[in-house]
Amino acid sequence: MIKKLLFFFSLLPVFLSAQQESPETVQCSLIEAEMKAHMALHQAASVGFLNDYNLIYHRCEWSVDPAVNFIQGAITSYFKPTVNGFTQVHFDMSDSLRADSVLYHGMPITIQHSNNILCINLPAVVPLNQTDSLCVYYHGVPPATGFGSFYQGTHAGAPVIWTLSEPYGARDWWPSKQNLIDKIDSLDVFVTCPLGNLVAGNGTLVSDITNGSNKTVHWKTRYPIAAYLVAIAVTNYVSYSNYIHLNSGPDSMQILNYVYPEDLALAQSSTPQIIKTIALYDSLTITYPFSREKYGHAEFGWGGGMEHQTMSYVGGFSNVLISHECAHQWFGDRVTLASWHDIWLNEGFATYFEALTEERYFPQNWLNWKKSTTTDAMNSPNGSVWVDDTTSVPRIFSGSLSYSKGSYLLHMLRWKLGDQLFFRSLQNYLNDTTLAYRYAHTSDLQRHLENTSGQNLSNFFTQWFYGKGFPSYQVTWGQTGHTLSITLGQTQSDPSVAFFEMPVPIEFTGEGHDTTLVLNHTYSGQVFTANLNFIAEYAFFDPDLHILSGNNKVQTIQSPGAMASLFSLYPNPASGSMQVLNMNPSNPVSSIELYGIPGNVIRSWQVSGNQNLNSIDLTGIACGLYELRIKTDLGFVVKKLEVK
Ligand SMILES: [Zn+2]
Repeated sequence: MIKKLLFFFSLLPVFLSAQQESPETVQCSLIEAEMKAHMALHQAASVGFLNDYNLIYHRCEWSVDPAVNFIQGAITSYFKPTVNGFTQVHFDMSDSLRADSVLYHGMPITIQHSNNILCINLPAVVPLNQTDSLCVYYHGVPPATGFGSFYQGTHAGAPVIWTLSEPYGARDWWPSKQNLIDKIDSLDVFVTCPLGNLVAGNGTLVSDITNGSNKTVHWKTRYPIAAYLVAIAVTNYVSYSNYIHLNSGPDSMQILNYVYPEDLALAQSSTPQIIKTIALYDSLTITYPFSREKYGHAEFGWGGGMEHQTMSYVGGFSNVLISHECAHQWFGDRVTLASWHDIWLNEGFATYFEALTEERYFPQNWLNWKKSTTTDAMNSPNGSVWVDDTTSVPRIFSGSLSYSKGSYLLHMLRWKLGDQLFFRSLQNYLNDTTLAYRYAHTSDLQRHLENTSGQNLSNFFTQWFYGKGFPSYQVTWGQTGHTLSITLGQTQSDPSVAFFEMPVPIEFTGEGHDTTLVLNHTYSGQVFTANLNFIAEYAFFDPDLHILSGNNKVQTIQSPGAMASLFSLYPNPASGSMQVLNMNPSNPVSSIELYGIPGNVIRSWQVSGNQNLNSIDLTGIACGLYELRIKTDLGFVVKKLEVK
């Protein structure tokens, strides 16, 4: 999902940092509710609830009226026990909903409903791996937790209902299995509502049948789907379609748009951009994952977007928003995070792929994306991309960490591996049959990056993913003849990381030339030397922003001319001896060498760095012109002198 605006507050910036929630009272109560709800979920998991059966199929029959905040439903479930002695089926279900009855083989059976868990007692043991089914009848007013779960309101005076379950809100409006272990293999949804409305849904539209003053709309999906990606939206939508030719799959796939009548013109002029976006994602990764069904957009009233499988719900139609939600169909829907600790597998990827559309189609925005994303990531100098507290919904959806820093980690991996190996790794990750249409941990992504590239990335993930903060670099350099000397230092914004390893690019320019050196930086204070075929005048640290870093001290770089002006020789011309005066005490001298012009070293002196004034002995040096090369911490300085 991407959240651009918040309902509750109007002062937050709109860019990616807006995902960070504000700690005002109304929000705190939501967070508290989420924490309690999440703890209940943990309790359930701890005793094996929800993990002891494989959910095969749901038939969801819902009745809603967008003018009324209420839902009535019947959920038929096919399941297979994965343990012996299976006698109870558990669903996540809000205590605010009421289970009217549960029918098993046509007969009512007993239930308990508390702590947001519906426990259904089967009359006899269902054997391991034997498919069975039951149906839950329920109704109620869904509570408003998380990002809304189930919203009823209006747009331009027309009533609307939409759902947004991520992360823990599916159970607020239907009895579901909302852990991140077992996807629903197959799903049919029937929504009955008053005539005059359209119903947005997952998968393929099967039928839309009028029955008196009501209608029933049937959607089906035959791709596995996580409970939080199941959604409906009901209002007086108008619809239109675009079509796309995919690399493989059907000749022409529908892109179905359900938009508010008042926004039709804006939508029709904006959404066709998604055709180029899908083509780009197809070419960089693999074919759109739900090509046998559809892709689409349904407009909703939330200030952002949500990647409901095969039909993203969007609060607007900007390229950034629709590209982000579309990328989730690969990263989030096809391969879904296996833990909320790993939300970057959804949000870091969607944010980065949204940016790749800028790089490809709006290159004028690309550098700015890197700058603003770096700046946003640095708003959390003591945070990690790995989510350390999954009881906090604002922490899971931290804009600066899960979105900005997460996306920049991908940008850095692309830099380390190169385009070809990076994107091939992603293809292998998406095609892994243990992950596709299932769930993945960060370790799964790391394994594919390592296997494809041959690089060991354990330090990268330890430092950049689990570690907190970001580095700041200090570069000092000098040049003697064609030999560059570069000292590269690093400090960190958080003490949890002693050092961030990265290949560090520095660009040197001068005499009409430029060259970029990539330094394999493995410790702070590391000294690099390299030959340049021109005299460098300027150095630029990471000019293309490959590395997440900030507060870099590029100003300490001195040109040879500027450094040389801080040394003076006297007397000059000289005979017998000469004084070398260093006027910059912060740049101590370590050695001095005398060269002929042209020629080799004639005499050298090791000197104490603490001494600003050094006397050198010129006895026995023939009359003539020479060069004095003074080695300092910032590089070499060359001064001309005459011996008489
Ligand atoms: Zn997202």
